[in-house]
Amino acid sequence: LDRAPPHYFGAGPALLPTEVLQQAAVELIQYQNLGIGLGEMSHRSSQAIDIINTTKQKVTQLLDVPDTHEVFFAQGGGTGGFAAVAGNLLAAHAHKTGKKGVANYIVTGSWSQKAAEEAERLGADVNIVVDARKFTPNGKYGVIPAQSDWKFTPNAEDIAYVYYCDNETVGGVEFHAPPEVPEGVELVADMSSNFLSKPVDVSKFGLIFGGAQKNIGIAGISLYIIKKSLLQHASLEQLRQLQVPIIPIFLDFPTLVKNNSAYNTLSIFALRIVQLNVEHLLAKGGLKAQGEESKRKAAKIYALLDKHPEIYKSPVAPTARSNMNIVFTIPGDGKEETFIKEAAIWGLTGLKGHRSVGGIRVSNCKSTGDVLPPAAGAPP
Ligand code: PLP
Repeated sequence: LDRAPPHYFGAGPALLPTEVLQQAAVELIQYQNLGIGLGEMSHRSSQAIDIINTTKQKVTQLLDVPDTHEVFFAQGGGTGGFAAVAGNLLAAHAHKTGKKGVANYIVTGSWSQKAAEEAERLGADVNIVVDARKFTPNGKYGVIPAQSDWKFTPNAEDIAYVYYCDNETVGGVEFHAPPEVPEGVELVADMSSNFLSKPVDVSKFGLIFGGAQKNIGIAGISLYIIKKSLLQHASLEQLRQLQVPIIPIFLDFPTLVKNNSAYNTLSIFALRIVQLNVEHLLAKGGLKAQGEESKRKAAKIYALLDKHPEIYKSPVAPTARSNMNIVFTIPGDGKEETFIKEAAIWGLTGLKGHRSVGGIRVSNCKSTGDVLPPAAGAPP
C-alpha cells in the first residue's frame, strides 16, 4: 500500500502522515493476528481498552498534561463539543456556586460564533466578551481586538467559563498565547484546528477540546482535556431548578471519564489513528518540533504574500495570522479561479477558501514535513 506524497491543502479532514495510514489500513483488516480488524473489535475488548489507555498515556506525554487534568475521548466532533461545553461547564459551576452562571464567549471567527450561538440555543445565559467583526473596517473577522476592548461579566464569580477558539479555521485567525481571563475563572479552548500543532500549557485551561479530523486523526472522535475539579456537577434536580441545559448522556463528561471514554460504542479505529499519529509526533521531537515546523511552513507562505501585495491580499492582522490556515484573496476578475486551476496543474489541491468567505486557504495541518517533492505531472 503506497501513494505519492499528497499535495493537498484542505482543512478538514486534513492529511495524515502516509506511514500512519499504511499501518492503520493493515490493522483495519487484521489486528494483532486476531483474525478480525479494528473496525470489528468490541470497544470493551482487552485490545480496545489497551488502545484507549495507551492513547491517553501518549497524549499525556505529548502535551505534558499535569495530574490536575484528565484526558478523555468522545464522539460528536467539534460541534458536539459546543453543546458539551455549555452543559458540562454550567453544571460544574452550579455545583460550585449553586448558581446558573454566565457563559462568556470571545468571538473572533465563525467557529466561536457558532459555539456561542449553540450555548444560547440550549438555554445558557451568554455574554459576548468581544465580537471581532466590530473592529474591522469591512465588518468581517480578521483581528483579535485589544484586551482593553473586552467586556467580561462584571463579577468574576458569576462567570461559569470563558470560551474562545484558539484557531479560527475559516478566517485564519490564531491566538499565539491564551487570552488573559479574570482571576479564578475557567478558560475553555476549542483547538479543533490547531491541537498538537504547538506546545500548550495545559495547566492554564479548565478545558481544551477538538474534533480529531484536522490535526489529531480522522473524523469520528474528539479529544478532551479537562481539569479534574470540573468533573463535579450539580444534581439533575438542581440543574432543572436553575434552568441549566441538560445535554445528552453521551456528552456528559463525568459519565465519559467514569467509563474510560467508552460509555457507548467508541470508534476504536479512529482512536487507533490518533494513537499512531501521536506516536509519530513524539518520535519526531514532540510539540516543540511540531510548533517550529508549523511556523516555518506558514512563514514561507506569508513571506510570499507580503512580497507581492500587488497580487495577494491578506485579510488577517499580522499578529493574529494563523500558522495552520493561511487565508488570502487575489483581487481581480477570475484571478482566484485561475490560481486554483493552475495550482492543480502542479498537483496542488484543496486550496479553495471556505465556502462562507471565498478566497484561497492553504491549510498546514499535521506533521507532513517541510518539503514535498514535486507532484507527479508537475511542469519542470
Ligand atoms: N471548531 C473548529 C475550530 C473547526 O474548524 C470546526 C470544523 O471545521 C469545528 C469546530 C466543527 O467541527 P465538526 O465538523 O467536527 O463538528
